[in-house]
Amino acid sequence: MERLDTDIVVAGGGIAGLTAAACFAAEGFQVICVEPQMPGPTGPTEGADLRSTAFLEPAIDLLKQAGLWEGLAPLATDLQVMRLADAGGAGPELREVADFDAAELNRPRFGVNLPNWAIRQQMRAAVPALPGVTLLKGVRVTRATPRTAGMILALSDGRQLRAPLAVAADGRDSFLRQSAGIGVRRWDYGQRALVFAVSHPIPHENVSTEIHRTGGPFTLVPLPDQNGVPHSAVVWMETGPKAAALAEMDTPAFEVALNARACNVLGPLKLASPLAQWPIISQIADRLNAPRLALVAEAAHVMPPIGAQGLNTSLADLRCLRDLLGTARATGQDIGAPSLLAHYHRARHAETLARMLGIDLLNRAAMAQDPVLRDLRRLGLRALHDIGPLKKAAMHMGLGLPRQAQSATPTA
Ligand SMILES: Cc1cc2nc3c(=O)[nH]c(=O)nc-3n(C[C@H](O)[C@H](O)[C@H](O)COP(=O)(O)OP(=O)(O)OC[C@H]3O[C@@H](n4cnc5c(N)ncnc54)[C@H](O)[C@@H]3O)c2cc1C
Repeated sequence: MERLDTDIVVAGGGIAGLTAAACFAAEGFQVICVEPQMPGPTGPTEGADLRSTAFLEPAIDLLKQAGLWEGLAPLATDLQVMRLADAGGAGPELREVADFDAAELNRPRFGVNLPNWAIRQQMRAAVPALPGVTLLKGVRVTRATPRTAGMILALSDGRQLRAPLAVAADGRDSFLRQSAGIGVRRWDYGQRALVFAVSHPIPHENVSTEIHRTGGPFTLVPLPDQNGVPHSAVVWMETGPKAAALAEMDTPAFEVALNARACNVLGPLKLASPLAQWPIISQIADRLNAPRLALVAEAAHVMPPIGAQGLNTSLADLRCLRDLLGTARATGQDIGAPSLLAHYHRARHAETLARMLGIDLLNRAAMAQDPVLRDLRRLGLRALHDIGPLKKAAMHMGLGLPRQAQSATPTA
C-alpha cells in the first residue's frame, strides 16, 4: 500500500480547502489536499455552483498572502456601498433605506464579489501549481486514525496519508468531524435561498442591496457587465413552500414575482442564469479540535447568507490557524500538538458563535410577518444608520475587523 508523508493534509478542495492548502504552503509547509469531485462546469450553467461570494477586505488580504489573488482579481466586481432597505409596509415599495459606504471608513471598497463557479475554476488551476501543494482529485478520505505522532488518513483509492496535522475542510456534513465524534448545534429556519443571476437596465454602481420584507432578505450583489448590460447576482431567501412554488414557475411568471420583490431598485430584472436552491441553516461544531485535527469553514460552522459572513468567517479560521502553525514552526513545536489545537478552538469558537447569533437575529428580523415586528425592524435599521458610532461599529463588525483597526488606514 502506498503511503505518503506530508506536513498537513487538508480534506476537501472546496473554496475554503483550496485556500487553506495555498495558505499553509505559503507559510512553508508541505500540504496534500484531497478532493473527491472532479472539476465542475466552467460557466454559469446547470449543475454549476451559481452562488457568488462577497469577499471582504480581510479575506482579500489572505488571498493575496496565499498567492491566489492575482488570478481572481480580473473576475471581481467592487462592493463600495452596502444598502439595507426595508419594504415591510402595506405596499411593495421601500420605506426605509440605509447606505453604508466604504468611504466612511476611509476605504475604497468593502470587498469584491465573484461567481463561485469562476472561483473554483481559477483556484483548481492555480493551487496545484503553487510550490508545496499536491492536489489529489477524485479521491475522498475514508478513514481517519489519530496516533500520538500524527494522523493517518485512508483514501478511497487505497493510498494512505500521514501528517502531524489534518485539517477538515470537507463541508457541512464533514466526514472528519463525524469520525472524530464531534457533535453540532443546528438551527433549521425552514427557509431556502433561490440563487441566480439577473440583467437590469440601471447600472448597479457597485452597490449591494439587501431588501427586507417577509420570508427573509432579498439581496442583489454586483457582477461584471456582460456585453455592456449590467448584471447582478441574486440571493432570494423565502420560506420553504414559497421558495418551492417560485422555483416551479415558468420564466415569465417568475420574473413578475421577482420584480415585485425587487421593488424596482435596478429597473425591470431579467433572469440571466439557471436557478439553484440552498437550504438555510445555522450550524456550529461543539469543538473545533480533536487529536491531530482542526475543523475549518463549513465543517466547523454554517450560517445564513446574510452580510457575506459565511466564507469570510471561514477565511478568518484559516488566518488564525496559519498564524498558530507559523509560530509553532518558528519555535520548533509540533504543529499538531493538543495545546496548539486547543488554542485554535478557543480563538475561533466563541467569536464564531457570537457572529452566528448576530446573523440568526438578523435573519429572524428579516423573516418577520407581524406588522409590529416589521415596524420595529424598520426602527432598528434607522437607528443603525443614524447613530454614528453604532453605524461605524456595525461596519467594522461586518468586515470582521479587530477593534484596534477601527481608526482605519486606507487600503490599496
Ligand atoms: C446562497 C448562499 C450564498 C452565500 N454567499 C456568501 C457570500 O457572499 N460570502 C460569504 O463569505 N459566504 C457566502 N456563502 C457561504 C459560502 O458559500 C460557503 O461558506 C462556502 O461555499 C463553503 O465552502 P467550503 O469550502 O467550506 O465547503 P464546500 O464547498 O462544501 O466544500 C467541501 C468540499 O469537501 C469535499 N469533501 C466532502 N467529503 C469529503 C471527504 N470525505 N474527503 C475529502 N473531501 C471531501 C467536497 O467534495 C467539497 O468539495 C453563501 C452560502 C449560500 C448558501
